[in-house]
Amino acid sequence: MLTTAVTGGIGSGKSTVSAVLRDLGAVVADSDRLAREVVAPGTAGLAAIVGAFGPTVLTPDGALDRPALAAVVFADPAARRTLEAITHPRVRARFEQIRAAAPADAIVVNDIPLLVDLAVAATFHLVVGVRADQERRVGRLVGRGLTEADARARIAAQLTDDQRAPLCDVVLDNDGAPDELAEQVRGLWAKRLMPFEANVRAGRRAVRGPVALVGHRPSWAADGRRLAARISAACGGRRVDHIGSTAIPGMPAKDVLDLQLAVESPATADELAPALAAAGFPRIDGNRQDLPRPAGDDPDRWIKRFHANADPGRAVNLHVRVADRPNWRWALLVRDWLIADAAASAEYRELKLAVAARDADDPTTLRYAEAKEPWFGFAHDRAEAWAAATGWRPAAAGAEAMGTVGGPA
Ligand code: ADP
Repeated sequence: MLTTAVTGGIGSGKSTVSAVLRDLGAVVADSDRLAREVVAPGTAGLAAIVGAFGPTVLTPDGALDRPALAAVVFADPAARRTLEAITHPRVRARFEQIRAAAPADAIVVNDIPLLVDLAVAATFHLVVGVRADQERRVGRLVGRGLTEADARARIAAQLTDDQRAPLCDVVLDNDGAPDELAEQVRGLWAKRLMPFEANVRAGRRAVRGPVALVGHRPSWAADGRRLAARISAACGGRRVDHIGSTAIPGMPAKDVLDLQLAVESPATADELAPALAAAGFPRIDGNRQDLPRPAGDDPDRWIKRFHANADPGRAVNLHVRVADRPNWRWALLVRDWLIADAAASAEYRELKLAVAARDADDPTTLRYAEAKEPWFGFAHDRAEAWAAATGWRPAAAGAEAMGTVGGPA
C-alpha cells in the first residue's frame, strides 16, 4: 500500500494526472468530490454547517446552498476557518475509509487541490505536484468555461508553483501536450510508485546504486524539512533533524539525505520500527553502533538504530538516536560547527573532493566513509572548543533551526 497526494494550482493538470493514474490501476480519491459527499443532505457535516451558519445556507429543498455559503466565508477568514474545521476532518476521515478499503498492494491517490500544509503533505508516502505556466493555465481554464477574470482571480488566491514546490517530492511539468504529461505519469508509475509500493509492502529499502559526490543543491534544505516532517508524523510528532553534509549550505555531498530521529530510549527506537517501515523507512539491521568520540568513550552511549528508505527516487539515511546522548548531540554539533566555521568547512570540503577524486573508480562507499573518519577524530576537539567558546547547545525542538521538525510542544 502506498498513499500519494496529487496537487497543483487550478488548471495545472491535476485531474489529467489523476485520470492517467486511475487508468494505470491506482485507487483515486478526489478531495473535491469527498468535500461534496461529506456535506450532502442528511450528513452530520451538513448539520454542523447549518449549526454554525444558520439555515440561510440551505436551498429550499434542504441541500447546501454553495453560493450562499461562499458569500459568507469569502470575506470572513474566521468563518472560513470554522467551515474548514467542519469539512477538513471529515474529508480526511473519508479518505481514510477509502484507503482502509483498498487492496493491500494498492497505490492510493488523493487529488488535493489545496494542499498548503507540510503537516498534511507529511501523511502521504509521496506528494506529486503538477505545474504549468500561468498564461497556459488561464487559457486552459477559459477553454473549460471560466471567464478570464475568474481564472486569474482563482489562480491569484492559491499558492504559486514556487511556493508549492517545497511540499512536493516530484513536480510534473505540464507546459507541453497532454500526451507529454501522460508520458511523465507513466514513467513515475513504473519507475517510482510501483517499486516504492512493493518495497513498503515487503518492508525493504530501495535499491541504491553507487552515489557520486555532487555540488551542494539548494533544494536539499526543503527536501530535509519535507522528509523530516514525514518521519515525525509517523512517530507521534517526535523531533527529527536534517544532519550531515546535505544540511550544510555550500557543502558538496552525495545525494543522500541524512536525518536524525530523537527517541527517549533504545526501547522506543525498537517500538517505532514498524511504524517507520510502514511510512517507507524500514530498519536496516546490523548497524547499531556509532563510533565513540573521543575514541574510548563508552560504546553504549553511542548506540543507534539505522533505517534507509523505500523510495527509489530519493535516498534517505535515517539515524535513530536517543535524545541528549553524545551521538545525538555530536551530529547536531558537527553540522552547526561546519555551518559556522568557514575554515573548518573549507577543509572538510577539500577532503571530500580529494577522497572522491581518488576513489572515482571505486563503486563502494565504504572507502569514502573510512577516509573521512580520521579527520572527524581530529575535528572533535575543535568542534568542542567552538561549542565551549560560543556556548553552543542543540537548538530547541520546534525552533525553526536547520529543518528541525516536531518535538515536544
Ligand atoms: P486541474 O485539475 O489541475 O484544475 P485539469 O487537469 O482539469 O486541471 O486541466 C485543466 C484544463 O486544461 C482541462 O480542461 C484539461 O483538459 C486541459 N489540459 C490539461 N493539460 C493540458 C495540456 N497539456 N494541454 C492542453 N490542455 C490541457
